Amino acid sequence: MSLRSRRWVGRTGPAALVLVTAAYTALWLVARPAGEATGSYLGQLAGADAVLLMSLGMVLITTLPWVDTYFDGIDKAAIWHRRVAITGLVLLLPHILLSHGGGGPSWAGPAGVVGTVGLVTLAVWAILPRWRSVVPGPGRRLIAALHETAPARLVSKLLSDYEIWRQVHRLTGLFLAVAALHGLVDATPFGDSVILRWTYLAVSVTGVGFYLYRELLARRGHGLRDYQVSEVRDVGDAMTEIVLTPLGRPFEYEPGQFAMLHLEAKDGWHRHPFTLASSPNEPHVRVTVKALGDYTTSLQKTVKVGMPAVLSGPHGRFTHAHATGHQLWIAGGVGITPFLSWLRSLDTHPPAGRVDVFHAVRDDAPYAEEIRDLVADRPDVGFDLVPSGAGRRLSADYVLESSGADPGDATVFMCGPEPLLRALDTGFRAAGVPAGRIYREYFDWR
Ligand SMILES: Cc1cc2nc3c(=O)[nH]c(=O)nc-3n(C[C@H](O)[C@H](O)[C@H](O)COP(=O)(O)OP(=O)(O)OC[C@H]3O[C@@H](n4cnc5c(N)ncnc54)[C@H](O)[C@@H]3O)c2cc1C
Repeated sequence: MSLRSRRWVGRTGPAALVLVTAAYTALWLVARPAGEATGSYLGQLAGADAVLLMSLGMVLITTLPWVDTYFDGIDKAAIWHRRVAITGLVLLLPHILLSHGGGGPSWAGPAGVVGTVGLVTLAVWAILPRWRSVVPGPGRRLIAALHETAPARLVSKLLSDYEIWRQVHRLTGLFLAVAALHGLVDATPFGDSVILRWTYLAVSVTGVGFYLYRELLARRGHGLRDYQVSEVRDVGDAMTEIVLTPLGRPFEYEPGQFAMLHLEAKDGWHRHPFTLASSPNEPHVRVTVKALGDYTTSLQKTVKVGMPAVLSGPHGRFTHAHATGHQLWIAGGVGITPFLSWLRSLDTHPPAGRVDVFHAVRDDAPYAEEIRDLVADRPDVGFDLVPSGAGRRLSADYVLESSGADPGDATVFMCGPEPLLRALDTGFRAAGVPAGRIYREYFDWR
C-alpha cells in the first residue's frame, strides 16, 4: 500500500476509538439493571468508561505495526494515547463523586484509592513539562517565581528527566489493573447484568494484556536490524551526523520516516527516536542528532566508529506523497531532518508540483550547502535559509509572501520547535490555508 492511500487508513483508528467508546457507553445505558439509582449508576458508568479509555491507551502505546497503520504513525498514536488517558482520568471525578460502592470485599475501596492515586500521579507527572499550557496566567507567574528557588529547581530537574519519568510511567498498567479489579468486585450492576460484567472484564483484560505484551514481549523487539556506526561527523550547531552501515539485511523505509535507534552507552543500551535523514536508496542510514537533553548531549561524546547499533521500525507517516498544489516545507533547527530525507530522495520520490523549502536557524546552517546543491538544477524547488542571528524571522506571512503561494492552494509541512510550529500553524490558518493541509512532524511525544 502506498503512503498516499495509507493516509485515510490512518484516520480509521481514531474513528474506531470514538465508536468503541460510544458503543460501550450506549451498552451501559441500554443494559441498566432495574433498581440502580441514577446518580450512582452514572458514576459507575464513568468509572467503566475510564477503564475502557485507559485500556485503549495501553493498546495505543504498543508500537505494533497495525497501530502504526491505523493511527497514521506511532507519533500520532502517542498523542491519542495521551488524549484517551487524560479523558479517562477526568472521568474518575464523576465516578468518585457519584458512585456508591457495591459492598464488595473490604479491600475493594482501598484498591480503588491506590489505582486512582497512582494513575493520577503518573498522568500529572506526564503533563508537567506542558504545565504552561494548562495553568492560567496568574498561576503561571506564581509557579515561575517558585521555580526560581533551589529546592524547586532540584525537584523540577528530577521530574523533568525523561528517563526517570519513563521508567516510573511503565507502572501505569499495574495501577490500571488494580483500578479495574476494584471495579470488578465493587460495581453494583455486575451482580444483575452478565453482559456488563463480561464486557467490563474483556475490556480490562485487553488493557492489561496489551500492557504485559509491551512490557514483556515488545521490548524484545520486532523489526530489529543490526548496524554498525561507520562515521561520526560534527556538523555544527550542536548537531552530530551518525552514519550507520547495515550488518545484515538493510532497513526498508520511506523518505521522512523515523526509527528507534538503540545505541550502547556506559550505563547500558538506550533507545530514542530519530528521523532517518538519508534517502532509502543510499547504502547507509544517516541520522542527525542535536544535543537537546542529557542523552543526546552525552551521545555526541560517546558515539564512536565501530560501535554496534540497532534500528527498529520504521515508523511514521510524514510524507509529501499525498500533497497537492504549492508545497511549503518548513523546518526549524534540527527539524530539517525529515526534509533532508525528502530532498535527498528527490529523484526517486519527486514531489507533485512546486516546492519551497524554508529553514529557520540561529546562525550555523549545517546543511545549507548540501541543500543548495540538491536543488541547484531543480527550478521547481526553492530554498530559503532564514537565520534569526541576522535578524530574520520566519512567519506564515513571510513564507506565503516570499514563495508567492496562494493560501487556498498550499500544502504545508512543518517540523521544528513547538512554539515556532504553533505560531506558524495559527498564522497559516489565519491566512486561509485549510487546516487539513497543514502537517506537522512531532519530535516530542510526552
Ligand atoms: C518522531 C521523532 C523524530 C525525531 N527525530 C529527531 C532527529 O532527527 N534528530 C534529533 O536530534 N532529534 C530527533 N527527535 C528528538 C529526539 O528523540 C530527542 O531529542 C531525544 O530523544 C532527547 O533525549 P534526551 O535524553 O537527550 O533529552 P531529554 O531532555 O531526556 O528528553 C527531551 C524530550 O525528548 C523526548 N524523548 C527523550 N527520550 C525519549 C525516548 N527514549 N523515546 C521517545 N522520546 C524521547 C521526550 O519527549 C522528552 O521530553 C525525534 C523525536 C521524535 C519523536
